Amino acid sequence: MLNQLTLSQLTQKLASSEISARQIVESCLAQIGRVDGKIHAFLSYNAEDALAQADAADKALAAGATHAEKPLLGLPIGIKDVIAVKDQPLQCGSKILGNFISPYNATVIEKLKNAGAIVFGRLNMDEFAMGSSTENSAFGLTRNPWDITRIPGGSSGGSAAAVAADECIATLGSDTGGSIRQPAALCGCVGLKPTYGRVSRYGLVAFASSLDQIGPFTKDVRDAAILLSVISGQDTADSTSIPQAVPDYSATLTGDIKGLKLGLAKEYMIGGLDREVSAAMQAAVKQYEKLGAEIVEISLPHTDYAVATYYIIATAEASANLARFDGIRYCARVDGADPLELYSKTRGAGFGPEVKRRIILGTYVLSSGYYDAYYLRAQKVRTLIRQDFLNAFEKVDAVLTPTTPTAAFKAGEKTDDPLQMYLSDIFTISCNLAGICGISIPGGFTQSPKLPIGLQLLGKPFGEETILKLAHAYERSTVWHGERPGMLN
Ligand code: GLN
Repeated sequence: MLNQLTLSQLTQKLASSEISARQIVESCLAQIGRVDGKIHAFLSYNAEDALAQADAADKALAAGATHAEKPLLGLPIGIKDVIAVKDQPLQCGSKILGNFISPYNATVIEKLKNAGAIVFGRLNMDEFAMGSSTENSAFGLTRNPWDITRIPGGSSGGSAAAVAADECIATLGSDTGGSIRQPAALCGCVGLKPTYGRVSRYGLVAFASSLDQIGPFTKDVRDAAILLSVISGQDTADSTSIPQAVPDYSATLTGDIKGLKLGLAKEYMIGGLDREVSAAMQAAVKQYEKLGAEIVEISLPHTDYAVATYYIIATAEASANLARFDGIRYCARVDGADPLELYSKTRGAGFGPEVKRRIILGTYVLSSGYYDAYYLRAQKVRTLIRQDFLNAFEKVDAVLTPTTPTAAFKAGEKTDDPLQMYLSDIFTISCNLAGICGISIPGGFTQSPKLPIGLQLLGKPFGEETILKLAHAYERSTVWHGERPGMLN
């Protein structure tokens, strides 16, 4: 079935006219019909529009267009509900935006379209990307295709589950503290968070502007490289995007990683690490040695402070960013006798409990008297965390860690305990604070039940080529990425 194939496999078949773009979209739509009732990765999609885009791609292919000029021609890419697509709903997994329709395309969407992609569907997420399980969506749970009693991770749970369940060939998500890598790990796909500044955030609804990045979810590392090459690059509409040339990331996937140095951080050997996750890590270390990489012990001494620092900075920025949802400019307004009452009624009714918790926390750490004690101090610790990584990268080319301390947990297991939920981000959060890049790849399974385990590679600022190369070499020497959830058989 075409929906099970990768971008690179489908590209070859399209180029040789063996298949049409319409057939690819039809096969994804059929899969959505078969499984999405159970998984609920999609908030909405427009089948007619996707088929019309496919027909246009088929026409272009018939007229001689090639994948050399348009690398994603005829390939459907699903989109997290936090990225603006013109004329489509944009709700950020929240009720507060009502029936808002985006008036413009995010830069990444323009780039996908220029590359010929079929931009398709709105994928479920934790409200405003706040969460690690997609249980904070205002529109219901997304379920993990490997075990539908479990969560797919978050906040980009829909983007991960859609790829894992073969409902989509690839998707985009956003990562502020792990929201691409953590769900990719828990659903058994590849998820990449680019270096801060690599990909334009224009048209990404802001959660924490100094941490947010858009990145791909794919079935293998090569597809992540392909998609990253398309969405990267400087953009005058996002002043934080950096004028650094965009390489052809797939050219780096040679399989040869001899002599590359891989760091293991002693601070990541934490007590709460699941036994099977730890065993998968050890096996991966052996595998990398076999492939010719050199393993080096490193220290990231400020690791203990990462979660606390993140939840100060991210909530502070969120409290400012979410002030715009006031019932005046957009959103489902609830009227009041005066503006203050209108604001509080609109925001009281529109935001869910986790978003409210974060706004309150963020407002508190920014308030007079507490700003220096919390926000300013967190900024200083953030600098130390970044410096830890820069020091480590003097010695190593990348750092290897588990992506998450455990495999996917049960729906409902952590909803009453926000702190437990926050701790599931322990390995992913530092990467955003440091502004570096990271990728999660399939690294094995737990035994019973069979659930995916993710491995994370963290790279230097703009070191995407190195982590992709390392990820690809591991992937092609292991079998994990080829396995599919039992419910799909
Ligand atoms: N789980 C983290 C949080 O709740 C990260 C979210 C994200 O990366 N968007 O904030």
